[in-house]
Amino acid sequence: MPDKNILVQSIKNKIKKFVKDRDWEQYHSPKNLSMSIAIEAAELMEIFQWITEEQSFKLNKKQRLELEDEVADIAVYLLNLCNVLDIDLSAAISRKMIKNKKKYPVNLAKGKMHKYTFYEGKK
Ligand SMILES: [Mg+2]
Repeated sequence: MPDKNILVQSIKNKIKKFVKDRDWEQYHSPKNLSMSIAIEAAELMEIFQWITEEQSFKLNKKQRLELEDEVADIAVYLLNLCNVLDIDLSAAISRKMIKNKKKYPVNLAKGKMHKYTFYEGKK
């Protein structure tokens, strides 16, 4: 686990320097960064717009590069938001996965795609 934290922190530091070097902290409010995450997610979805689920697994090289760029854009804005709000992303993900395990017990949710509320009261 420590290795993953070091990797995330290293990327967060690179993003922090990139933003500081350009004097962009003034624009990077939590509001603007959260909107930017959603905008980049929409750009990711645009790649898959109008193609079938089967085609979505078989992108050509150009589409694949575009996909990776959009995934990176989302991650950069997310880590930028973590910098601004001092969020330990690794700890937040660990906490959320514990919650997800409780919301989606394997014995009830395996192979199913219901929202967690479907399983409430059945545990
Ligand atoms: Mg983009």
